[in-house]
Formats: sequence, structure tokens, C-alpha cells
Amino acid sequence: MASYKGEGFYERLGVKPAINAWSWVTVMGGSIMPPPVVRAMEEASRSFVDMHHLNARAGDVIARLTGAEAGLVTAGSAAGMLLQAAACMTGTDPAKVNRLPDTRGMKNQIVLHRAHRVGYVRTYRAAGAKLVEIGDTDRTEEWELETAIGRKTAAVAYVYGPKMGGAIPLESVIEIAHARGVPVIVDAAAMLPPVENLTRYIAAGADMVSFSGGKGVMGPQSTGILCGTKELIAAAYMNSAPNSEGVGRPAKVPKEEIAGIVTALELFVDTDQDAQRADWHQKAQVVVSGLQGITGVGAILVEARPELQDSHSGHARAIVSWDTATTGLTDEDVIARLKEGDPPIYLGTAGPEGGIAVVPVNLCKGEAEIIVDRLRGILGGD
Ligand SMILES: *Cc1c(COP(=O)(O)O)cnc(C)c1O
Repeated sequence: MASYKGEGFYERLGVKPAINAWSWVTVMGGSIMPPPVVRAMEEASRSFVDMHHLNARAGDVIARLTGAEAGLVTAGSAAGMLLQAAACMTGTDPAKVNRLPDTRGMKNQIVLHRAHRVGYVRTYRAAGAKLVEIGDTDRTEEWELETAIGRKTAAVAYVYGPKMGGAIPLESVIEIAHARGVPVIVDAAAMLPPVENLTRYIAAGADMVSFSGGKGVMGPQSTGILCGTKELIAAAYMNSAPNSEGVGRPAKVPKEEIAGIVTALELFVDTDQDAQRADWHQKAQVVVSGLQGITGVGAILVEARPELQDSHSGHARAIVSWDTATTGLTDEDVIARLKEGDPPIYLGTAGPEGGIAVVPVNLCKGEAEIIVDRLRGILGGD
């Protein structure tokens, strides 16, 4: 007899739903899709369609919303990065597409700032590219970029991760690369919201930009969007599913997820950003206010600073720290206790200065209050 009754799925598997104060991280499942997104996916699941046609029309929507010539739904920003690398190496030459990740006879170098060396850059290598690194994590000189670009350069990459300090500004990178006929590929996975970033990098002259669909856009977790020039997007598509030869074929996007991300994007551009920012600010404030007056414990609110253009500053957050000598607890101890409780609460450390960060973007109503109660219990506020 089938055990499936159509509900209680997580319970049946013994997996506890958690409070996610960690942000749109993949290890927590990214984001919660709004009901219209789920409905669009359900609707799309009922029919067959020509996937080339669906991909092209979805690409038109992405192009319109990003201001780029063309667009493509990807299986996440990491998949988009792989397709960027592949597209810059093969162009629309089917023989080269067929040869990847063997890059003999192709321009196969991607120039990367050491300040941009996040784990995801291995996706460029997965396509067959070789990374040529420049600068160090807190400083890069323009001459380093100029001399790194050569005969074998396929692209210059620009990655918006948590630490942007040591990179040459995007505008200068574009100027230097374009003067040498080399495209600039941008990974802006976690840079949405603010919604202005959807058009920002293309407007600055980037040739291709990759975003996550399952973070702040709140589309399906395994989607992303790629936008850029007609030629490079056509090349990216040749390297991707549904075409079976492409090095990007394992990163397939089904029709349901295309329906989901297109719907999520349309909702995203209509979001009242001021109201959303105020809501996040208020939730962070609940945590900060609720933790005042405990001996040895400090809680501060860090305001949103989207102008910093790094992946952690688009929203307000609460930073909680304590005197380890008094409480006898390390950051890791507190994080572990929050996970063990009921409901489990997941969050991360605040950074090099220590403490933990309560990121409000995925908190539902009442969850900030639960976090306060639990932290007061752990840190001795009651
Ligand atoms: C999240 C992230 C990615 C990966 O995005 P997915 O959509 O999960 O594939 C890539 N680069 C950066 C900087 C990210 O923050």
C-alpha cells in the first residue's frame, strides 16, 4: 500500500521545518516561493511544450526586465557562470561546443580578481576554462588587469560576493577589457534585491550577467537568469539543456521551473521595496530591542547599505555578541543550541569581529520574537 497521503511530507520523513535566520542560503532551501509562483509551476506541469520555444519566450521577458539584448533561464547562478565561461570560449561554433571541456585551440583563460575568489568560480573551470588571477584580497592595480589580458583570454569575470574591497571598480574593468576586445562576465547571484541591480550591470556595459532565481527573487531554488548580448546568450544556449551536446546539459531547467522563475521575476519587479525594507528593519529591531539589558550581551542593528554593492549589505540585520568568559559559550555553541531546539533555528556567524547575525529576510511573522525568547534562554536573559 502506498504510504503517501498527500500531506505531512516533512513529518513523514522525520525532517523538522526550521526558522531560517541565515538568509537565502542554499543549505536552508533558499527562499519560500510566493503562492502565484507555485501556481504557475503547477499549471505549467499539465502540458507539454516545445522547450526551445518556451526558453526563447522566457528569454524575451528576461531581456525586457534586465535591459539586455537577450536572456536565458538557467539552473541557478552557478550554472549561469558555467554557461558564461562556455559561451565566451565557444561562441556559436558547434565544433567548439562539442569539444568542451577540452579547450584545445580555443581562447580559454578567464581573468579573475583574487578578491572575487568565491567557491563558485570552479564552475568556470568545470566548463574547461583556466583561471588567471590578479591582485590580492584588499588591492588590485589596473596594470595587473591590463597585463593579464592576452591572446588566450576568453573573458574577464566579475563576482559580487561578500567581500568586494580589493577589486577594481566594474566600470574600469569593462573599459580595460573592451579596449582589448574581451567580454566581461558578471556573477551577481545574491545582488537582488534591490531591484535596480537587475539593470545596473548591463547598463554599465557588462556583456553577460548571472543572477540567482531562488534567493531574493523568490523563484524556484534551482533557477537563475542569465542576460547579455544576443550572440553570447545564443552561445550559452548551445552549451546548455535541452541541447544534449553541451557541457551545461546536466544543469537542465524544466518547464515548471521556467514558469516559476518568470512569474517570480514579474512579481519581484513589482515589489514595494520600501515596505519590504521597512519590514526587514522592524524584524531586526525586534531582535535588538528584545536582547537589551542582559549582562555581557550586546545586540546592534546594522542598517541596509545597498550602495556598498556586496552580497551581505542589501538588507538590515541584527548582530548579537556576548562575553564568552561570562557566558562560557562560543558562537558555535549558541548556533548549535539554536539548531537543537524546537523549532530548530538556523543562523550564521556575523564575521571576523565575532558574534552571530540574525538575517530577517526569510523570517515569517512572529519568528523574530521566538528567536528573542530562545536567545534569552541560552544567553541568560531570563
Ligand atoms: C549564491 C551564489 C552563487 C550560486 O547561486 P545559485 O543560484 O545557488 O546557483 C554564486 N555566486 C555567488 C556570489 C552567490 O552568492
